[in-house]
Amino acid sequence: MDDTTEKVREAVASLGMTGWRLAPADHQGFTCAASMFIAYHLPTEVDPLAGGDYDEAAFHGALVDARERGRQMLRGLDSVLDELRVRHWTVPGGQDPGTLLADLSEKRAAALAGLGWIGKCSLLITPDHGPRVRLFTVLMELDAVIAPSPLRPACGKCTACIDACPQGYLSGADWRQGIERAAVIDAFACSRRMEELGAAIGHKHSCGLCLLACPLGGKEARKDKLPGA
Ligand code: SF4
Ligand code: SF4
Repeated sequence: MDDTTEKVREAVASLGMTGWRLAPADHQGFTCAASMFIAYHLPTEVDPLAGGDYDEAAFHGALVDARERGRQMLRGLDSVLDELRVRHWTVPGGQDPGTLLADLSEKRAAALAGLGWIGKCSLLITPDHGPRVRLFTVLMELDAVIAPSPLRPACGKCTACIDACPQGYLSGADWRQGIERAAVIDAFACSRRMEELGAAIGHKHSCGLCLLACPLGGKEARKDKLPGA
């Protein structure tokens, strides 16, 4: 690893993210991706996994808080990369409203970086925090880094997210490289539902019933809670 790559690694490590990895990338001339995440937790009384009542406002607040904390950290990384003259691009997040696809799939990049796997809920599942993570990705033009080993999907026989969706938008199919998104989740119907529910609250509803049901989320997350584990 050359000196610049080592300095970038140190800068990413010092940000305070909950988890991060550098991995090779091949996107618009960028050769390296820093995949990072911040884990968030909900107070027990609004955490369905802990016996609390689902509360969209609390869930939405946790998402926004994690996003803002991450953005703040990324401003520091931006300055370091500018100083090191490393060409870089912070993936802005969000999706094209017509396709519901992003310029770059951050969950796929994170899975390739070995931070987790894509679960039956179509989200990145991390071993220690389940899907309760906010992802951040910075692409860079850097000397090649070694490809990390991807994690084996560990959803097993669990169906908690599928059972939690009141609309039945999750099929139960295991995600695998090359699978059509529609084979796992009806993303358009899910998005429409969240738009409809959001009309009354002034922002797209965060729903998250499937996400919050994942046994790997929450403070007591353990893989041995999964059926068949
Ligand atoms: S976000 Fe809500 S509507 Fe969409 S798949 Fe999950 S539980 Fe179903
Ligand atoms: S709830 Fe179960 S099946 Fe769904 S993503 Fe989490 S571990 Fe996988």
